[in-house]
Amino acid sequence: MSKAHSHDHQAPYDQALSTLRAARLKITLPRQQILRILTTEHGPFTMEELHQRVKNACDLVTVYRCLAVLEDVGLVRRCDFGDGSCRYEFHQGSHHHHLICRRCRKIETLDICLIEELERDVRQKGYEDVSHALEFFGICPACQKG
Ligand SMILES: [Zn+2]
Ligand SMILES: [Zn+2]
Ligand SMILES: [Zn+2]
Repeated sequence: MSKAHSHDHQAPYDQALSTLRAARLKITLPRQQILRILTTEHGPFTMEELHQRVKNACDLVTVYRCLAVLEDVGLVRRCDFGDGSCRYEFHQGSHHHHLICRRCRKIETLDICLIEELERDVRQKGYEDVSHALEFFGICPACQKG
């Protein structure tokens, strides 16, 4: 996200608040709380997991609306692990993929992406705003021992 570059000296949470202000969006308590969680823990979290973490503050609908707004301004990225639940994480512009254990649901990040060349081919077909999603699934070493 190129807009974030002017705030490079700020912590991710403060960057996020600046982005909200720049988009003339109110910094409501639920938005603050969700951003706090997403900027300190990688996740990605389902809506229900986020709701559990902010339990006393707002209901599930509010979490849903917050995430929609945050996704809209590019602060939040949606991930699909193919199990019917959307998951959300802070979108810092660092492109990465996930490795998920099928058994304990542990999530690791993979910072190397070898698909960028393929994405270039896609752009050459004349497509704009191209993105890709790829997640890996397996049984982690700890679960293999258990
Ligand atoms: Zn991630
Ligand atoms: Zn595992
Ligand atoms: Zn990639």
